[in-house]
Amino acid sequence: MSTSANSAPPSSFTHAMAREAMADHNSQVPTPASDDAFAEVKAKVDLVKVVQEHVRLTKRNKDFWGLCPFHQEDSPSFKVNPQMQSWYCFGCERSGDVFTFVELIEKTDKRGALQMLAERAGVELRKLSPEQKERSDSRKRLLAMLKLAAQFYEYVLWSTPAGEPGRRLLATRQVNEENARRFQLGYAPAGRGFAEYLRAKKRSLADAQEGGLLRRDGTDFFAERLVIPIRDERGQPLAFTARTVRADEQRKYINSPETPAYVKGRVIFGLDLARDEIARRGHAVLMEGQFDVITAHGAGIQNAVASSGTALTDDQVRLLKRFTDELLLVFDADRAGRQAAQKAVLLAAAHQMRTRVATVTGAKDPDEFLRAAGADAATQWEELAAKAPTGFEFGMEEAAAGLNLSNANHVELAARKLREWIAQFPPALQEDYRERAKRWMGVSGHLLAAEPDEKRSPGRPGAYKVGKNGLETSPAGKKMTVGRYLLQLLAVRPVAFDLVRTKITPDELDEEDRGIYERMLETYERGGVSGLEKELAGYPAEEQDLIRRAWAAPPPSVDDEVAVELAERITLDHMRGRHSGIIRELSEAERGKDSERVARLEAEARELAHAIADMERRG
Ligand SMILES: [Zn+2]
Repeated sequence: MSTSANSAPPSSFTHAMAREAMADHNSQVPTPASDDAFAEVKAKVDLVKVVQEHVRLTKRNKDFWGLCPFHQEDSPSFKVNPQMQSWYCFGCERSGDVFTFVELIEKTDKRGALQMLAERAGVELRKLSPEQKERSDSRKRLLAMLKLAAQFYEYVLWSTPAGEPGRRLLATRQVNEENARRFQLGYAPAGRGFAEYLRAKKRSLADAQEGGLLRRDGTDFFAERLVIPIRDERGQPLAFTARTVRADEQRKYINSPETPAYVKGRVIFGLDLARDEIARRGHAVLMEGQFDVITAHGAGIQNAVASSGTALTDDQVRLLKRFTDELLLVFDADRAGRQAAQKAVLLAAAHQMRTRVATVTGAKDPDEFLRAAGADAATQWEELAAKAPTGFEFGMEEAAAGLNLSNANHVELAARKLREWIAQFPPALQEDYRERAKRWMGVSGHLLAAEPDEKRSPGRPGAYKVGKNGLETSPAGKKMTVGRYLLQLLAVRPVAFDLVRTKITPDELDEEDRGIYERMLETYERGGVSGLEKELAGYPAEEQDLIRRAWAAPPPSVDDEVAVELAERITLDHMRGRHSGIIRELSEAERGKDSERVARLEAEARELAHAIADMERRG
């Protein structure tokens, strides 16, 4: 350990830093965007290999299949065609070539994708336009500078007496050196330490100023602060947030400005450290503050990340979605934290991500909670996580908070809040959520129906003729029958088979609906609610079409009540059909003077007519 407060880092350290900085500086990739460059790169990379770095592919016949990285699914609908070097997802219907794949998966643009793939293929791209070159060079210099700064601050923190205030702050926060080094925490001393260091190394102060590291007068922007690097998912520092060590400082935290290297709301703090554990556990723990995450990692919760300085953004959710489909949200216990959690639930749902919400009790934030738990942190954390409700349930509890559900007025109020909560989710989830809210509150469905006119009153003649997706016409222009409606409903809500199969037998269905009904029923009995997704690929094309269309555009009302009504309608139609058949047979028997047959048919017709009248009365 060095003992001189003002000494620069020892020379072996500076050499290493200089080497790294130089390497960064020299590795720039020029980027022309001519069609030639795209064609040349495309010819040299294999789409299958590129995709395989992100998706586990299985070969089936000539194609490769995997779980789509761009939407959430349990069975593969993402297909790569190696001959055409093209990919297509049957689920989200995204498609493209190797460039669009890299664009989407790396969250870059076309030029960025070209650069990455050119590098990989060893293709020398031709010269940039002067402006492009300038922009690319200045970003590279900036990144190198930020890396250097992080190393300098970390050195000061641990290896100089000047770092003492930072070390003290970490001690009060119970962050040990091992954990602090993981996050590359550092300390910016008072004065012009970093500028002097750069001058000694003959590095540009202008770059440091552009990166928001120095003030105009050359003093450290982060002076007398513990410095926390905000790194991207690969570990490259893009910016800093810094906490003061002084009790008299008003601004506890200050942050780097936005630069060509850093756009607020696009980075997830801790993702570089958490990504492996996220993959292992299948979910990410999303917190609000950097210290929440640092403490969490110290306590062994190494899949913790933070939205870092902003409310969760669309870009951040997309970034997280590259690594997981499930978030455990652990926000601050106050009202603002709970509201932020609700917003995050909705944002995640819009990206087909599942959420759960854990609430820390007896502490203002996860950092405090975990520190208070001390050696017990891991156990207490497991308990907290185990009882975390889903994001949707959390919102229901919030809607009903403070209300007394045995009071009719309160029930009405809670129902209105729940309706508003449900309406903010993607339409595909709403019906199921309404159903769950109904059971959860123990109220009748009409209180939660989205629109009064969206739900038909049961049994009214012509009641199914609702809306453009209703009974009158199918998207193919064919007449929509009760049978078709039921099939669509069962495609969207297979669990309704439990009721429907006790009400009707396949032979009560029209001939054209019978085959697909039986196939779907078998699938359900074999595979449960997720069976259809798994087995659909084996269905005849026409039937796949009907089911996929129902998934894409569900019928107007999807619930058990409607399923039962449809089944009863089918039984009724079937009985009416049989009745007219018997009447026809009867006149034939009368013409043939077959009195025994006449009597039997008359009895049958009478019985059926009774049953029909019964059903009609009940309907
Ligand atoms: Zn997809």
